[in-house]
Amino acid sequence: MVENNRMTNNEQIMNTLKHYFGYEELRGGQAPLMNAVLEGRDVLGIMPTGAGKSLCFQIPALIMEGITLVISPLISLMKDQVSALNQAGVHAAFLNSSLSAVQYQKALELARMGKYKIIYVAPERLETESFLRFATDPAVRISFLAVDEAHCVSQWGQDFRPSYLKILTFLERLSYRPVLGAYTATATLDVREDILDILMLQNPEIVLTGFDRDNLFYAVKKPVDKKRELISYVKKKEAEMPGISGIIYCISRKLVEEVCYDLRTAGFSVTRYHAGLSDTERRENQEDFIYDRKQIMVATNAFGMGIDKSDVRYVVHYNMPKNMESYYQEAGRAGRDGEPSECILYYEPRDVRTNQFFIDHNEDNQELSDAERQMIQERDRERLRQMTFYCFTNECLRHYILNYFGEKSTGYCGNCLNCLTEYEEVAIDEEAGAILRCIRANSWNYGVSIIVDILRGAKNQKILGKHLDQNPMYGKLEAVTVPRLRQIIQELVLQEYLVQTDEQYPVLKLEQKGKDYLESPNEIRMKLAKERAEEKAEKKTVKKSKRAKSVVASLSEADEKIFEKLRAIRWEIAQKEHVPPYLVFSDKTLALISSEKPKNREEMLKISGVGEVKWEKYGEQFLVKEDIK
Ligand code: ADP
Ligand code: ZN
Repeated sequence: MVENNRMTNNEQIMNTLKHYFGYEELRGGQAPLMNAVLEGRDVLGIMPTGAGKSLCFQIPALIMEGITLVISPLISLMKDQVSALNQAGVHAAFLNSSLSAVQYQKALELARMGKYKIIYVAPERLETESFLRFATDPAVRISFLAVDEAHCVSQWGQDFRPSYLKILTFLERLSYRPVLGAYTATATLDVREDILDILMLQNPEIVLTGFDRDNLFYAVKKPVDKKRELISYVKKKEAEMPGISGIIYCISRKLVEEVCYDLRTAGFSVTRYHAGLSDTERRENQEDFIYDRKQIMVATNAFGMGIDKSDVRYVVHYNMPKNMESYYQEAGRAGRDGEPSECILYYEPRDVRTNQFFIDHNEDNQELSDAERQMIQERDRERLRQMTFYCFTNECLRHYILNYFGEKSTGYCGNCLNCLTEYEEVAIDEEAGAILRCIRANSWNYGVSIIVDILRGAKNQKILGKHLDQNPMYGKLEAVTVPRLRQIIQELVLQEYLVQTDEQYPVLKLEQKGKDYLESPNEIRMKLAKERAEEKAEKKTVKKSKRAKSVVASLSEADEKIFEKLRAIRWEIAQKEHVPPYLVFSDKTLALISSEKPKNREEMLKISGVGEVKWEKYGEQFLVKEDIK
């Protein structure tokens, strides 16, 4: 980029944004954070995942003289960001333990020669002799130090990394002080204060953007049969948008294996990730997902830190996570490119117990005193309670999330399942009584489908063969629809009239509360989704919800064909160059190309996401000529 002192900071920012990244506009919070750094001020940027923190330090880095160091906690994160920069035509490198000694020395040598504008460093490296020799070399000028994932300095956070404390000692070793920038998605006040104190930011510009991710649709579901629900969900998504990427989070390795197996058996392109796999396999599976060789990642929460894949269209939590912080972070891996995406949580009472168990048996805090440990346990229990409330609220889910993070909201977003579902409070004594009696009368325990079949008077072999038509409740609820019955059974489980066992084929059993109810029935009222309202709500999110307008989904049929062709071209390039497809061009950019149909360089450069460098590299191949149709 040509240095030009007469250009204002703003002009330089906008030029750099377009030239390297192909974007026309800054997003909320980006301008003040970039400007402050260019004026030589420290900054603290708190922005949700996907808001575009990386550009906040990358763009000033490209404009300033000298080198920018970016401290980043994870190898995968560095690798991803550096390849994105290289794709955009920026000379960047990373220094971490994935390099051999020879590669490392070579990289330092090139860095000393001024080859790189931006260097990503693992915090552990900062204190090593070889790195210090480089950093204190008189010919080297580090003008800006950006601390990514800055919450890692805080012991309050979940991701505390002692090596982050080395940043300060490192700064002391320099004979001058670079501008210091700290960036995080963690908003809690104690973490924020820790960052300011520990990194000793000087008169920083603090920018906190809203936590709302309005492209994300939130839903909580309580399926009686989660596997079936998941498979039909994935099928639906695949039909809507073939080739779509999604993440399924499970609470245990065992479940990851099971769910992965089920999806594979159902014919989906799926891979897995958990701490029980070898490093090699984890890396391979992660790459398969990022490079679009596999569409679905089934994983424990070990997966995701440092995954920048921007086109994840849905995140399903197969189990409820331990707190809202984790949920927000994991669900937030959907839709980082700003396109409509879905965050679905499957709730099941058992998940509360499992999480409770993890809290009670947490071995992480061995070095703490009993009192401290108790305090942490108490805090974690409270967080778990808040998470559980999320699953039960009938209010706007977005409102609940924002409120949890201390933000105001209108209370109606129109883009979550609760906002789109009509609830009604109904008395369900008759149904509940029949269900409980039906279960009590059986001499054997059965799963939900059989109970539903008995109540509805089904005449299939399973029922007749087991003489279940002899059950006194046989056919008693013939008039109630299957989904409605399932919904009521599920509510009875949630309210602990019934329990559903943990076995491979879960069966229903009466709880004490259910037995008591049969002795002395009283009124049971439940807030139930109006019949079919949920299905209708889901259709609405696909078609009508105006907030959820995706560029890809709004393509005409003819343009969609072009889009598919362009995707194929992108895939070829990605495989050849060994980069993730979304780093070549995002889906959104491809969709814009499909609808705008640029025929030359000038038209192509008008497309958001196409900068000079990308044009030079790939532009020609994506021009929409006649023959592409
Ligand atoms: P974060 O680090 O805050 O989670 P990223 O920096 O990874 O977010 O950015 C998320 C996505 O948004 C990336 O694909 C990035 O290219 C894109 N992005 C960032 N800033 C802009 C912008 N001003 N206009 C359009 N897209 C942007
Ligand atoms: Zn809502």
